[in-house]
Amino acid sequence: MIYDLVILGGGSAGYSAAMTALKFKKKVCIIEKGPFGGLCILKGCMPSKTLIYSARINEIIKKSKTFGIDIKGKINIDPASIINRKNKIIQGFADYRKNIIKNKRDINLIYGEAKFISKNEVEVNKRVIKGKNFLISTGSKESIPPILGLKETGYIISDEALELKKFPKSLAILGGGPVAIELGYYFNGLGVKTAIIQRSEQILSNNDLDCAKELENALKNKGISIYTNTSIKSFSKSNKGKKIIFDHNKQEKEIIADEILVAFGRKPNLEGLNVEKAGIKPEKGLIKNSNYLETNTKNIYIAGDSSANLAVVNVAVEEGRVAATNMFSKNKEKIDYSAFPMAVFSHPEFAWIGLSEKEAEEKKINVKIGKFYFKDLGKAECIDETEGFIKFIADKKTNKILGVSIVGHEASDLIHEAIPLLYFKATLDDLKKMPHLHPTFGEIYSYLVDEMI
Ligand SMILES: Cc1cc2nc3c(=O)[nH]c(=O)nc-3n(C[C@H](O)[C@H](O)[C@H](O)COP(=O)(O)OP(=O)(O)OC[C@H]3O[C@@H](n4cnc5c(N)ncnc54)[C@H](O)[C@@H]3O)c2cc1C
Repeated sequence: MIYDLVILGGGSAGYSAAMTALKFKKKVCIIEKGPFGGLCILKGCMPSKTLIYSARINEIIKKSKTFGIDIKGKINIDPASIINRKNKIIQGFADYRKNIIKNKRDINLIYGEAKFISKNEVEVNKRVIKGKNFLISTGSKESIPPILGLKETGYIISDEALELKKFPKSLAILGGGPVAIELGYYFNGLGVKTAIIQRSEQILSNNDLDCAKELENALKNKGISIYTNTSIKSFSKSNKGKKIIFDHNKQEKEIIADEILVAFGRKPNLEGLNVEKAGIKPEKGLIKNSNYLETNTKNIYIAGDSSANLAVVNVAVEEGRVAATNMFSKNKEKIDYSAFPMAVFSHPEFAWIGLSEKEAEEKKINVKIGKFYFKDLGKAECIDETEGFIKFIADKKTNKILGVSIVGHEASDLIHEAIPLLYFKATLDDLKKMPHLHPTFGEIYSYLVDEMI
C-alpha cells in the first residue's frame, strides 16, 4: 500500500497533521518510536502545569491569613502524591488521544523508529513503508553543552525533574528560559532551596528587559536566588553536594546543591532519520523549510520542535495543520509566526504576543508604549494579586496594536484578549470602544487603552 501521508513522530505536530489529512479523506500512517502521546502530554506542558499547581496551592495556603483564614499546624508536602496525581492525569490525556487514533479507520499507527531509505520510503522494524508525502515531526531533545565536570558531577533534565518523588533539599538550575523558571517556581514553592544560574544579563533573554525584571523580582521575593550575567567555570562533587563555581558580575561565586537541573533548552531531534537518503540536506544539524513547511525535497514537510522554528505546542499544532493542508489542498497556506501567544507558567505568569519593544527597536518601527500596573486595578487588590503589569506596543501613527506583554496573575489566560486584537489588526481606537466586564482582570485592557489615547 502507498499512503497519502506517512508521519514520523506522533506528537502534537504529527497528530495535528494526521487529523488534517483525514479531512481531505487521505490514508495516513503514523510511525511512533513510543511511548505514544508526545512531549506536551508526557514530559512537557501538561505534567509541568499539573505539578506547578501544587506549588501554587502551597503559596495560597501560606498567605491565607491575609484573607482572614488562619490555618494552624504543619503543612505536609508529599512529593509522591503530587507525582502520582500528575501521572494519572497525563495517562488519561495519552489514552484519550490513543483511542481517537485507534478509532480512525484511515490512520495506521505503527510503533518503531523510522528512517528514510528514499524520498518515498521509510524503514521501520525492517519493514518498508511507502508514501506520497512525508512529515518529519520527531520533536526535540535536551541540549547539553560539554561543560567541564558536568557529566562527572551528575545532573538531571526536565524529564527526571517531573518524576521526583523525593525532593532534593537544594537545587541549582542552569538556564533562564521558560522551563528553568517554571521548574524553579515548582521546587521553590514546595520547599526546595532553589537557585537559577543564567548566562545572559536577564532571564528570558529574548524578551523585553522590563518584563523579565518584573518576573525576576517577583520570583526573588518568593525566595528563589537568581544569578544573571554568569559564566560557569566548573562542576565538581564535594562531601556536601554538587559544587558549581561561576563568575557572577565578574566575581567568583560558589554554590553547593543536592541536585543540578540542566535546562539550557532543546534542539531538533533528527538523529538516525537518514534524511540525506531522501535528498534533504541539513545545515548545521537543522532542516530548513519554506513558509509552506516544505523541505528542499518537495514531498517531505517538517513541523513542530524538529523544525526549530518556535518550540511551543501551539506552533507545533499549527505547523502540522498547515503542512498537511499544503500537501493536499490547492489553496496553499503560508505560516505566519508573528502572532503566536507564548507564556511562562510560574506565578506570576508572563505571557506575550506579537512585537516586543526590543524587536520594535531592532526593526526601527516607530511605536508608542503603554503600561498599566495590576496594583492599580481594583480586582487585583480584592484578591491580593497585585504583581506585574500589562504593556502595549502600538504603531505611533496608526495606533495599530502590534504587541502585548503581561506579567501577572493568570497572564496566560489574559493574553487571549490580545489574540483577536492582533488577528483582526485592531487599533487602540477599536479597543477603546469595546466594553469590558467589571470587576475583572481582563478590564486592565480598557484601563490601559484609556491612558494611551
Ligand atoms: C518541561 C517542558 C514544559 C513545556 N511546557 C510547554 C507549555 O506549557 N506550553 C507550550 O506551548 N509548550 C511547552 N513545551 C514545549 C512543547 O512540549 C513542545 O513544543 C511540543 O510538545 C512539541 O511537539 P512536537 O510534536 O513537535 O514533538 P513531540 O511531541 O516531542 O513529538 C515527537 C514524537 O516523535 C517521536 N519520534 C522521535 N524520533 C522518532 C523516529 N525516528 N521514529 C518515530 N518516532 C519518533 C517521539 O517519540 C515523539 O513522540 C514544554 C516543553 C518542556 C520540555
